[in-house]
Amino acid sequence: MRFSVPLAVGLAFFTGPIMAQDDVDRLVGAMLGDTPIIGDLQSLTDEVGGRVTGSPANAAAIEWALDRFRQAEVPATREAFEMPYQWQERGVSASISGDSGFTPTVVAKPFSAAADEVTGPLVDGGKGTPADYERLGETAKGAWILIETDVLDDEVGLAGLFGEYSGAAATEPLAHAAGAAGLVFMSSRPQNLMYRLPMLSGAGRQPILLMEREDAKRAQRLIRNGQPLSLTSTIDVDAGYAYQSANVIAEIRGSERPEEIVVMGAHLDSHDLGTGALDNGSNVTMLIDIARQITRLGLKPKRTIRFALWNGEEQGLVGSWRYTQQHQDELDNHVMAASFDIGTGRLLGFYTGGMGALIPMVNEYLQPVAGLDPFEHFDVPVVGTDNFDFMMEGVPNLIGHQADANYASNYHAGSDTFDKVDQQQLKLNSAIAAALVWGFANSDDRLPRWSREQIEDLVDNTNLEQQMRDFGVWQLWADGKRGRQ
Ligand SMILES: [Zn+2]
Repeated sequence: MRFSVPLAVGLAFFTGPIMAQDDVDRLVGAMLGDTPIIGDLQSLTDEVGGRVTGSPANAAAIEWALDRFRQAEVPATREAFEMPYQWQERGVSASISGDSGFTPTVVAKPFSAAADEVTGPLVDGGKGTPADYERLGETAKGAWILIETDVLDDEVGLAGLFGEYSGAAATEPLAHAAGAAGLVFMSSRPQNLMYRLPMLSGAGRQPILLMEREDAKRAQRLIRNGQPLSLTSTIDVDAGYAYQSANVIAEIRGSERPEEIVVMGAHLDSHDLGTGALDNGSNVTMLIDIARQITRLGLKPKRTIRFALWNGEEQGLVGSWRYTQQHQDELDNHVMAASFDIGTGRLLGFYTGGMGALIPMVNEYLQPVAGLDPFEHFDVPVVGTDNFDFMMEGVPNLIGHQADANYASNYHAGSDTFDKVDQQQLKLNSAIAAALVWGFANSDDRLPRWSREQIEDLVDNTNLEQQMRDFGVWQLWADGKRGRQ
């Protein structure tokens, strides 16, 4: 399949240093041409499937990625690291009893505590605000608390996603403090769609379920009409112990400054209800394809490029965190670390994490794909994907800023499958990402790593602390266990 884009217009009038420009043009052209990227993505999603870190499918995904790099003749290794907390759902059941009892569809929230036939009144927890717990008073004790959520669809997009995370982070400690039997979140996605929204702090603290929206609405109406209901649930999990996982790190060694490193990262792991196509198989296969085309064309970057397929991202950005620990000695020489994690929506620009000096560099490096503009960049710190530990270590970092497209409605859901992928846009995004990495790998410019003081200034002058609290990573930074010392 070939893709025709208005790229030639951008190229025809560009005059730059001839040899280097020739290389990046060849790379961009190769990315837009016929490559195995779509077949790779189908293989990873349909054949390997959903790949929760710590599961057999995740181990298969590591082998799959090593094999793809091997076939592309790009040297790659597995870098083992310790995951702090295993969590896999073995089975879950729930039943509602009362005058109008029924059997709702539920899944356990990742990091939920186990429950062995726990029965309690099912009470209306509203939106789970402090006022709701005050209203419930003593009745919250020993009860399953049903929490209403707003609909998350593609119109609401990523903003709704962050809202759902912060809402959950706020209500979970309140339920625990009230002595509840457990929490029952209403699915934010209509049409019976189920998903996994990980609990980002308080692993194993209390049982938490997600209930199908239609079932949860039904229960809520019955309760509000004055019918007492109770819920019995069993949550069987394999959980609670440390175990070993691994990142897959492929490397194209620099020809002139091999000790200087540019990282292109995407997480290999996913959740298990779907097959992790948008989150994040699409960007995994994009990085493999860029590495493949650079090697196939015989291009020699001046700096070393590392293609990092992170693991444990969905459990707290663990793989990229461990990488920054394992490669601590090299971090001064990390010129840039980019993350791609928003499916196949159009690449609109980059988040530059408070290092505004990256913006003119990015704009320069995107010149070879000027036909795919406009690009707009946002100089704000963003928590929620694998740039995080690079940012807190002071390494210049980027996140691909992508159109929301169909990301939010399929996020972590049973519907995140190969058929949701915008194949043509993935090809275009791969050309943009290729131009970006080529620019960082070959430019004479680079930014220095930030000091601890500069990172603290970023924390003090932005909403970074609140974001870190919502994602359960604040305490580790505050305790000096995560981020630059
Ligand atoms: Zn992701």
